[in-house]
Amino acid sequence: MEQIGHHIDGARIAGTSGRSADVMNPATGEVQAQVALASKAEMDAAIARAAEAQKGWAATNPQRRARVMMKFAQLINDHIDELAELVSREHGKTLPDGRGDVQRGLEVVEVCIGAPHMLKGDYTDSGGPGIDLYSMRQPLGVVAGITPFNFPAMIPLWKLAPALACGNAMILKPSERCPSTAMRLAELIEEAGLPKGVLQVVNGDKEAVDAILDNDTIQAVGFVGSTPIAQYIYGRACANGKRAQCFGGAKNHMIIMPDADLDKAADALVGAGYGAAGERCMAISVAVPVGQATADALIEKLVPRIEKLKVGPYTAGADVDYGPVITAAAKQRILNLIDSGVAQGATLVTDGRDFSLQGYEAGYFIGPSLFDNVTPEMDIYREEIFGPVLSQVRTDSYEDALNLVIDNPYGNGTAIFTADGDTARDFAHRVNVGMVGINFPIPVPLSYHTFGGWKKSAFGDLNQYGPDAFRFYTKTKTVTARWFSGIKDGGEFNFKAMD
Ligand code: NAD
Repeated sequence: MEQIGHHIDGARIAGTSGRSADVMNPATGEVQAQVALASKAEMDAAIARAAEAQKGWAATNPQRRARVMMKFAQLINDHIDELAELVSREHGKTLPDGRGDVQRGLEVVEVCIGAPHMLKGDYTDSGGPGIDLYSMRQPLGVVAGITPFNFPAMIPLWKLAPALACGNAMILKPSERCPSTAMRLAELIEEAGLPKGVLQVVNGDKEAVDAILDNDTIQAVGFVGSTPIAQYIYGRACANGKRAQCFGGAKNHMIIMPDADLDKAADALVGAGYGAAGERCMAISVAVPVGQATADALIEKLVPRIEKLKVGPYTAGADVDYGPVITAAAKQRILNLIDSGVAQGATLVTDGRDFSLQGYEAGYFIGPSLFDNVTPEMDIYREEIFGPVLSQVRTDSYEDALNLVIDNPYGNGTAIFTADGDTARDFAHRVNVGMVGINFPIPVPLSYHTFGGWKKSAFGDLNQYGPDAFRFYTKTKTVTARWFSGIKDGGEFNFKAMD
């Protein structure tokens, strides 16, 4: 059985806590590896070593650090198939989707090649007689990234690339369900020139996370995962005086206007609703057609598309549309939610509960399910299902549809499909959601913009990647400098030094 330890000071080492977790193969239900779960003592030791390594890295000039990013990007490209396979093997997503997972992380590394430009400070020449002011961005020190199972490459890269490009050291605590990709990324970035110890991958669960939150050396925590854990980590990190940005769960709605191209809307809904088995924080889980005729027509378009979906293991390559969900417990929870939808009066148009795949009977597969006539009180509407389940909520007007999105406690992503620019523009302006798609179902911004939800989808005040990341991972120091040529002798007692 493969044993996965930690990546510390440039080497894979075994855990010493005596605790480990099973890493499952979601397609077969078999244990494929065991991952060490770090104790507080192991975490504290890794952080102390990172603090030592950070000093030299911070003193390395920004362009040299950027060259490490450039080489790292090249190595990710060279190893993209291997990395995609690591993603898919533990997560279960299809290989093309595994490649996409790596690719969307790689794009953030590419932007970090331009870090020196982002780290340039501000300068005021002659702010007063003989007085200049300049602001510089300095690294924070040791920061932590705590990441979820659903993007084993992309989200670790969103965290580590900007943090390291800014001159910090990072403790990366990946999901214990999908630890291997982060371990491999650490090897590749060291091959690209990152000094040992600057990136420590410490595997673990709540004990490791709490050790991060309570360690005084950790200056900032970047988290991505479910909302209750995001809120917990944000609260504890802030209470301990750390900078924190914690991104949580989602319930993303897509409004379909009567004038929308319904074929394109249905294609988009099927991809965004069922892709990656619905295990994306930007998945569309609620379709909101405006008008009964739009709703009826949309169901007619969706059903044949859903019935054609191919569900299977990642080893089938591009021949499957989505794979299993992550654990047996996740599967059971999703099946229970589907049962609750039926019990609470929603119409189950397509039922994926009895799906079974020959040879993979113990895998965590669920067929695609489609609900119609869902109402906001139902559990299937209120909960983030995080599975291959799409709910249709019927509305009578654009205002009703918009208010449904506005009233939802989550605010990660949303979309509108329409042929009318005025409606689209109104929607983009008024909706209280962080990422908006117009005839675009999964509006994950490109890497030189920033990613972040609103409401209960994010805690903290800066987004991930793009310009916000360079603000999050640095602190500003402002120097007011005066040189004494031409200054009269004697003290000055007035406060107005700048006139
Ligand atoms: P999760 O919250 O269970 O786990 C995320 C991380 O937190 C993992 O590293 C895990 O080890 C750790 N963790 C879990 N329980 C903990 C506890 N009690 N105390 C301290 N740490 C704990 O999330 P997940 O199931 O891995 O990921 C799925 C969730 O992530 C979904 O809700 C999804 O919407 C969300 N997500 C959000 C975004 C975003 O950018 N907003 C992106 C991807 C995923």
